[in-house]
Amino acid sequence: PESKLPSLGTTIFTRMSALAQQHQAINLSQGFPDFDGPRFLQQRLGFHVAAGANQYAPMTGAQPLREAIADKTAALYGYRPDANSDITVTAGATEALYAAITALVRPGDEVICFDPSYDSYAPAITLSGGVSKRLALQPPHFRVDWQQFADALSPRTRLVILNTPHNPTATVWQKSDFDALWQAIADREIYVISDEVYEHICFAADGHASVLAHPQLRERAVAVSSFGKTYHMTGWKVGYCVAPAAISAELRKVHQYLTFSVNTPAQLALADMLREEPAHYQQLPEFYRAKRDRFVDALSASRLKLLPCEGTYFLLADYRAISDRDDVSFCQWLTEEVGVAAIPLSVFCAAPFPHTLIRLCFAKQDATLDAAAARLAAL
Ligand code: PMP
Ligand code: GLN
Repeated sequence: PESKLPSLGTTIFTRMSALAQQHQAINLSQGFPDFDGPRFLQQRLGFHVAAGANQYAPMTGAQPLREAIADKTAALYGYRPDANSDITVTAGATEALYAAITALVRPGDEVICFDPSYDSYAPAITLSGGVSKRLALQPPHFRVDWQQFADALSPRTRLVILNTPHNPTATVWQKSDFDALWQAIADREIYVISDEVYEHICFAADGHASVLAHPQLRERAVAVSSFGKTYHMTGWKVGYCVAPAAISAELRKVHQYLTFSVNTPAQLALADMLREEPAHYQQLPEFYRAKRDRFVDALSASRLKLLPCEGTYFLLADYRAISDRDDVSFCQWLTEEVGVAAIPLSVFCAAPFPHTLIRLCFAKQDATLDAAAARLAAL
């Protein structure tokens, strides 16, 4: 058939993980932990399966999970979404993003994204007949230039998609960024998707700034999160989004025909986890900060130049002192010849990306990080 997405192939994450496996390289490419999630969560899953919670969950999500999410949101961001009308449980953040984009974007609408940007946004925009306007952010801080943003707005602008903490640059938005966004869009009908899947992996002094903590913006926003990151269980594919009732009603129309509902026993286990083990996500920044610092220390012996990492479990490294290859061929060489797989940054950008940057995932056991750092330090 004629392709609706002719320029797309298999995602970089799948390709790099396959290449890593083929060459038995240490895989710091695709973002997933090489260790397991909490035993408590696994036991609760077994419990709910044995207790017979094995039929369809409600379309919007299991009630105990939506209520636990409402409580957590109130505790963290000072705003309690309505568990019935504002919270929708989805098959990972990926489905929440797709449902929200599909619900909001009409043919011809423009959507502003910030490059580098996560790979799932643009295809969903294209499939809805929208046009991505991708604003390039510059290393090392990748901050939004609000004048450039204002200049990019047009009468057709319908949606802005942001991501904080940010994959792949590991930067975070501050409250002042949300204020600037609100100032720029307040008097227009523009919606916001805030991808906050790394909300609990934030090292910034002020903590994670959520769109949900912004009283005006949250009236226009879909906040997206994922339990895969928080509980080291990327394979469970349970995420959720929080949005005002009118927006939720529209994205639920998409969700109900995309997946209808999500794995019941996993939702109930996650509700137990949120309620009974809040210490897990409270301690997550320290857990990943220790990994980041260990990895950064070990890499200080290398010729890689490391960029600041304020959140996520990714670290950017500039390899200019080691090679003058482009980033895609550098990552291929690194996997095949050095035995470490990484992600080239240019794949997250629409315009040519004239930098020599790779993304390394440090959601790995200490031994994995030490072994990878030793190989990289030898370059
Ligand atoms: N958004 C970002 C920024 C991500 O990094 C990821 C996954 N790594 C997702 C969304 C998708 O999350 P999920 O696996 O829950 O679908
Ligand atoms: N989001 C993960 C990453 O950034 C990958 C998810 C996927 O493979 N689709 O590495």
